[in-house]
Order: sequence, then structure tokens, then C-alpha cells
Amino acid sequence: MITRAKATIKGIVQGVGFRPFVYQLARKKGLGGYVLNTSEGVDIEVEGEQENIESFFEEIQIQKPPLARITSVETQYLPHHYHYDDFVIRPSRIGAQQSVLISPDICICDDCLREMKDPADRRYRYPFINCTNCGPRYTIIKDIPYDRKNTTMASFTMCDRCQQEYDDPLSRRFHAQPNACSDCGPHVSLYDHAGQVLHGIDPVGKTRELLKEGKIVAIKGIGGFHLACDATNGNAVTLLRERKNREEKPLAIMSSSLEKVKQYALVGTIEAATLSSKERPIVLLPKKEGSAIAGQVAPRNRYLGVMLPYTPLHYLILGDDLLALVMTSGNLSEEPIAIDNDEAFRRLSGIADCFLVHDREIYMRNDDSVVRVVGEKVRMIRRSRGYVPVPIFLPFHAKPTLACGPYLSNTICIAEGEHAFLSQHVGDLENLEATDSFELTVEHLKDILEIEPGLIACDLHPDYYSTQYALRQEGIPQVSVQHHHAHIASCMAENGINKTVIGLALDGTGYGSDGTLWGGEILIADFEGFERAGHFQYVPLPGGEAAIREPWRMALSLLYQAFGKDLFDLPIEFVQRLDRLKAGNILTMIERKINCPLTSSCGRLFDGIAALVGVRDRVSYKGQAAIELEMEMGEGEGLYPVTVPERGECIIPQNPIIHGVISDLRQGVDRGTVIRKFHNTLVEIFTDVCLKLQQKYSLNRVCLSGGVFQNVFLLENLEKALSALDFEVYTHSMVPPNDGGIALGQVIVANAVLKREEG
Ligand code: ZN
Ligand code: ZN
Ligand code: FE
Repeated sequence: MITRAKATIKGIVQGVGFRPFVYQLARKKGLGGYVLNTSEGVDIEVEGEQENIESFFEEIQIQKPPLARITSVETQYLPHHYHYDDFVIRPSRIGAQQSVLISPDICICDDCLREMKDPADRRYRYPFINCTNCGPRYTIIKDIPYDRKNTTMASFTMCDRCQQEYDDPLSRRFHAQPNACSDCGPHVSLYDHAGQVLHGIDPVGKTRELLKEGKIVAIKGIGGFHLACDATNGNAVTLLRERKNREEKPLAIMSSSLEKVKQYALVGTIEAATLSSKERPIVLLPKKEGSAIAGQVAPRNRYLGVMLPYTPLHYLILGDDLLALVMTSGNLSEEPIAIDNDEAFRRLSGIADCFLVHDREIYMRNDDSVVRVVGEKVRMIRRSRGYVPVPIFLPFHAKPTLACGPYLSNTICIAEGEHAFLSQHVGDLENLEATDSFELTVEHLKDILEIEPGLIACDLHPDYYSTQYALRQEGIPQVSVQHHHAHIASCMAENGINKTVIGLALDGTGYGSDGTLWGGEILIADFEGFERAGHFQYVPLPGGEAAIREPWRMALSLLYQAFGKDLFDLPIEFVQRLDRLKAGNILTMIERKINCPLTSSCGRLFDGIAALVGVRDRVSYKGQAAIELEMEMGEGEGLYPVTVPERGECIIPQNPIIHGVISDLRQGVDRGTVIRKFHNTLVEIFTDVCLKLQQKYSLNRVCLSGGVFQNVFLLENLEKALSALDFEVYTHSMVPPNDGGIALGQVIVANAVLKREEG
């Protein structure tokens, strides 16, 4: 039976080869009609045999191009009233290509990789080969609509052969905006450390040579510069660390294939799929003992951060012979990654021996994403390149909203309707580069998403750069959101829950509603508000920020709370190690309440324990003490008895833990066991807390959020314990549990608050 059908397809369906795909499929099925881009997505009309039309729409969803993401298909059958002779791609409607979703930057596809390796192909060894199924997107788009003239490819005019491909609906490069070849597209060149170009060499070949010699090369990529060196060369890695001023934080590495990765790391099935996924994130993998990777790559860590190549250039540099390269972001510690050639020469000249650069400008900075697999699920640690700007779907309809995010590990979020666009990693808003990057990201996302915020959300902390920015935007309603409420709201939103939950928000520190530093928070929360049902007992944080860099201060504060001045008589190594003068000064500060803000932080408790058991007194990067504490964990079921109060607020005392730890240390219990008992204790405490709140509030849903849940043991075991008691446990997967997810939570809460205010 001949019939006719119309469909509107929404999602990431433009700039990803969707129309040629539909065109070819329709012709294969012998259907007439047309396909065209509209402001909402793609419209299709087809006429033909009913069964062919049905299978056509089925196959669209199954076989869609790799970069396409379909969010909805609305089909409507109509009586056939006139015949289409043919199937055609119609020109876009005026105003088309607006308000449509933009694809993230995607790794080189198999077809392009094959062509690049084929000596007979015209793009043999061309470092910028791409097609509609692969290549840069988000980082090169300056404006919408997504057309070449609005990207950083505008300065390159396609040669005839490239233009032909671009115009041919049957070509893989039909409307591939970054389409290029060595005749007409970008090129690489190699510069020495003084910024002088090296002539008469093969830049890629020379780079490989230098890397093999143990040199450090700054390499321009998709979302910024990397600093590369041979990961099997300990001296090179040490030199890179010294020059980059990055003492111990693990460095990411890149290998050309899964087979190579398996030589030095354990790769599970989900990990392998994630490494090979088109997003190509850094995946944390357990190290294999005795591998060729230098120990300096990730000292005192059981894991390696590994990624597979994602640009053609990466494949050319790695070749078949290099086992792995360190590929760490091209910056000094904690500054934003460098993206511009001149900027790189300026900022990285003290670090890199050479610069492999190219003339395709990076418009948007975008760091590598970092994930790990826990409980058979991929868990974001940093959600950036490859994932941004794919939206997160909201369980309600949001007003056009801008959320300015937290102070550290900042991301921003722009939302409208069912879509929340969490930005790439902006970083710590501590320097001019970072705050500039913050503002550029806000403006850029507003532009390309065409969302003009009618609501602004920010943190409760009045002094954060992001808060101040929000306050400067006049004439728009603003909602301040408590940090830990935002954590829980983001976990709820990610899991599509819009009901009251028990929220465990465990992290470093965030500004509390009472002006203290929260971080071990038990909340009864919904989108609109929360009740603080409990928290860790407040302890002084001696010296504020200084105590975050020096966990021994936290240990001293905890000991003082538990033992008073008798702490100096404790026969434990930590006390013997103490500088008496400094320690005395700190106790005076605590007693006189000078620069000792109170905190209920769980992260700081980890710090204190790490110093007490001798894992670390000082840290050189965020979370180091807690990470190393987890790495040193031993076996055992033991725990420290902590009683959670029966009634009233659930204030969890640290003293029983501290007494238990000290008693074990005095008896010579090894530190691995002590650390395990500490972890077991936390699982027990929070399970107990949930049971008490379940009774009190008749709630069965628990959300786990906050940076502490990057601790694999705690996440796995708390989830297990609570599930065994029939709680519904919700955790993060595609949104980071750390502050990278805060902006999403801010969007949610601000919308709920505004809704209530508007009645
Ligand atoms: Zn491709
Ligand atoms: Zn060309
Ligand atoms: Fe936090």
C-alpha cells in the first residue's frame, strides 16, 4: 500500500551527516520525498510502500550516523496525494540551523584513519583529515549557524577536490565543515623553545625523534596544548614535572592501541569500550606491576590515567613503536590549558624543548575528560572534551538559566526546557587566565545555544568570582544555592528524580548557610530546598586554606579535640614528628579562635587521618591526601564504634574514630588495616544515618554526591550496604560527583525556587 509520512527528528542531527544518510536510506528503500534542516532539527517527508516507510524510520534510529544523537522522532502518516519522483535534500529553511544541538569534538573515525594510512589516498599522512563522522566541532565553532564561515576553518578555502566532496550528498564529506586536505587545509610546523620555526625538516618525524631522545614537546591538539614526553623515560618525566611545577599529581598517558595499553594496565571490558569510544576520555586503569611505564608518571598511585589517540596527528606521532607518551595539559599547575600558538610560546617556553603547532585556531579551550569505571558504570571525574556540549536531560522544564558554578573545578551550566548544557572544565577561578576563560565560556555558550538567561544561579559564598559575576548581571532574577544542596540536586537531576531524598553530600568544603565550612552533610532535600538533618561535628580548620595544603594541621586539630593538650604525650609517630613550636602556635590559634573557621568537612577528616597514620602531612594537589590514603588501604572487616545520635540532629562525632585510630597505632596495628577500618567506619556511619532518617522521614531514596565519592571503596561499599537494606541508591555517572557538577545542581534549585516565588 502506498502511503505518505512526515517526521520531525530532534537532537544532534545537523553537521553530523544526517541528511546524506537519510537521502541514501530513502533511495535504498525506493521512497520519494525530501529531507531538510529546520530550526528544530530535521524534517523528512516520504512517500512509498508502507512497509518500506516503516523500516525506513526504524533504520534511521538504528543506523544513524556516529555523531548523531536523536532525542525525539515524531511521525505522522498522511494520505498520499501526490507523487514525489525522487528523494532530494532541500535547502534549509530560513532561520534553520539555529537552536539545534551542536556536536562535541569527536575522535578520528575508522574510515579517515584507514585513508590516512593508505599511501594511495590523497590524504595520506595528512594530520587534519576528517569527515562528517569525525573531527573537531565545539572547539572550532565561533558562532552559529554551524557553517564553515563561522568556524576557525574560515581562513582556509577549499580546493576543488575538497569542495566537490563537500557538495556531494553521496560523499562522507558532504557538508563536513572542517573538510580539508594538504593542498588547502591547515599544516603543522615545529618550533624550537625560543619560538623559531625549524625549516627543512619533517615536523612529525622530527617530533618523534625528539620524544625518543627524552625531550619535552608541546603539541597543539583539539582543545589545547599538551606537554608530551616518553612515558617510559623516567628522566624525561621527572624533568617535565620539575619544569611544570607539578610534583606528584598523576600525569595522563596516551598509547596507539588497546594492545599497547594492556602491556602496562589492566583493561576490563567496559574500560576497553570507554577507551575506544568516540569521546576518547582519559580512563583510570589499575597499573600492572613491573611495566615499562616510568614510576614517576603516577607516584604512590595504583592507577594510570590512559587515553587512546583522538586526532590524526596523535596517530602519526605515536606511530607503531612508541609504547606510551605522557600527554598532560599544556599549562603550569592549575592554570587553564594554553590554546593559542603565541600564548603557548609565552607560557610554556620554560617547559617545552620544542613546539609542534598548527594553523587551525582553537576557539574554545577544552581539556581532556577523565572517567573511571566503578560498579560496572562509567563515572565522570572531569566532563569536558568529547562530552561537551551534549545536553543533560532534565526531569522538568527549565527557564532559560545561567548557573555560574563553584569556585574550584568550575564549570558553568546553561539550561532551557529539558536541556542543561554543562560547560567544559573551566578550572579553579584563581587567576586572570581562568576568570577570562570563565567569561568567554559563558558568552560563547549563550551565543551558540541561543539562550538568553532569564534566571541566574550562583553559589551562596559572596566572595567567589563566579558569585560576583552573577551579581553583576543586573535586571535578572538571581538565586543563591547552597553548595551541598547543589550537589544533591545534581545527583537527583542526573537520575531523573524529582522527589524528596536523603542526600549524603561529602566533599572538601563548601560555604554553609550558617557561614561555616560544610562538607560532611546529611540533607533531606528536594529541588526547592533542604533541611540539614545532620553533619560531622564542627572542628576548627587551623589557618583555613593553609590547613587544606597541610593536612597535619587538621590532624592536630582532631587530636586536640579528642585529647586536649595531653595529645603531646601520645606515643605515636605523628606526635614525635610534630614541630612543637608550630604545633603550640596552632593550639593557641584554636583556643583564641584566630583564623580557625569551623568545618564539618568529610574531606578534611580524610586529610587528618592521612596525616595521623603517616601517609601525608602536606599536599601538592587537591585531594592528594585522600587519594593516597585510599591507595594505602589494607584488608579487614574491623571498624571503630561510632554512635549516631538517636534523636535530634545527626551530629557525627569524630572523637570515637580518632580514639580508635590512636589506640590501634599505639598497639602497632599496621596502617593499611587502620585505613581500612576508617573506611569501614564511614560506610557503617552513613548506613546507620540512612536507617535512622528512613524511619524519621519515611524516605527510601538516597543520593550520594560530593568529591569524596570519587573514593571507589566508599562509593562501592556504601551503595552495596544501602542497596542490601532495600534503599534506592542514586549515584553519579555522566555528571561528576565533584564540583564539576555543581552548576547543574544550581540550575535545578534556582528553577524550583523561582517557580515557588512565582506561585
Ligand atoms: Zn572521519
Ligand atoms: Zn583540499
Ligand atoms: Fe563540593
